[in-house]
Amino acid sequence: MDPRKIKIIEKLSPPKNKKGLQRLIGLFNYWRKFIRGYSQHTYNMRQLLSENAEFKLTSECDRELEYLKFCHISNPILAPIDPDKDFIIMADAAVTSGCGYQIMQYGEDNKLHVVYYGGRALTDAQKRWTAAQLELASICLALREIGCFAIHRNVVVLTDNTSVLHLGSWIPQSQRERRLLTYLMQFKLTLKYIPECRNICADTLSRAFDDMSEEDKREFMPTSSDEKEDFILSVSDNSGGVNLPLNPSLETPHDGYSGWTCYLLTPESQDGQQEITDETIKFQADYFRNLGATTQITAVTPEADNDNHDSDNLAGQDDEQRDQEPALADDSPEPLLDCLPPITPTDFLNDADFKDIYSFILDGGFDGDEKIYRRLLLTTEQYFIRNGLLYKLALPRKSKLQRAYPVSERLCIPTQFRGQLLKLYHDKLGHYSVQRLFLTLYSIAFWPNMYQDIGSYCKTCDVCLRTKRNSGHS
Ligand SMILES: [Zn+2]
Repeated sequence: MDPRKIKIIEKLSPPKNKKGLQRLIGLFNYWRKFIRGYSQHTYNMRQLLSENAEFKLTSECDRELEYLKFCHISNPILAPIDPDKDFIIMADAAVTSGCGYQIMQYGEDNKLHVVYYGGRALTDAQKRWTAAQLELASICLALREIGCFAIHRNVVVLTDNTSVLHLGSWIPQSQRERRLLTYLMQFKLTLKYIPECRNICADTLSRAFDDMSEEDKREFMPTSSDEKEDFILSVSDNSGGVNLPLNPSLETPHDGYSGWTCYLLTPESQDGQQEITDETIKFQADYFRNLGATTQITAVTPEADNDNHDSDNLAGQDDEQRDQEPALADDSPEPLLDCLPPITPTDFLNDADFKDIYSFILDGGFDGDEKIYRRLLLTTEQYFIRNGLLYKLALPRKSKLQRAYPVSERLCIPTQFRGQLLKLYHDKLGHYSVQRLFLTLYSIAFWPNMYQDIGSYCKTCDVCLRTKRNSGHS
């Protein structure tokens, strides 16, 4: 037998007060019909609940507790999972303590049996979740334990949380809710309301962590691998889940998995050996242009992979924008290849911003101002030259992307090419705002004061001025 499915019962600790004891007895009561000599085996514990009794657990109480725990993790209360039967899940979350659930199935005797007890202690971060989110999470946790069986069966979920009852019409307000709901969507769920006072089993399990020792409690904390609260979509028979393409196709809906499309930022990362040349930039520009005509551009920026609502608004704004000006996205038959003249080593050597660093890397020589020399020494390790082109190394600006893309190689753009590059990207991508154009360019291009230059370009863009875009704070 899988020890995980009884662990929470094994670790049930003696209660610290009457309330805790009442909860425990509530759980035991639920299954009393399966427990031989139930009244005798709860006598001492019940004495403690009487009004005048002092709350002091005796060794008899401990023995009773051990006996009852044993009954709960053995026949007939606990039964093996039957893959050919439907499931019933009782789930509950206590905002201050944890999530708890009990998964049940009807046995051959037509009576309900437990097939899985489970629960999770909350981290400090999770204690700030809303009650409804935690409730969703406990249902997800339960389903994850039986996912491969549950995916083919009907699952009845008993909940005392009224928001969860309206799962079908729940509009996710954050990436977290989106993840949880997407995970649940692949199951055939029937939600049923159960009054709080009758959801006693799940309630007891969700509060079991209150009485647990810190050491035991740690065992029920999320491990580092699932700390990110992610529910990985399992392979399902209807949606295809994770098999969606990594590169967004035209059909890819904007469904919150915008993280995938981060590949767009660095197409070369699919092939580590491929170098960034201006050919690559042209390729990217082409790629963006084709993409911009039909799909959500919002997916291109790392900003989109974010809980904050600004990026959502931004996306909406862009939709409007594209609707108003359909011509913008797909006109321009002229080849983009002509828009960006090839950068040569001479261009760097003649450029005020890059000539010092370029020649310094080439031959280590510098005979100018000592201040500049010291700055060169400090910054030189951020630069390198490949095929005659100067690159600057940079970490992604969002720390959460740093693990996926540790370092990006930003092509240094000599002054004379900057205007063309900005025009290319701003015009072809559908007139990005300053912020978004910057984020898009950040991972592939570099020059000093890039942000300010982007700002002044966007401010003077004729189309943007006419459509009042970017005229505000951005
Ligand atoms: Zn514009």
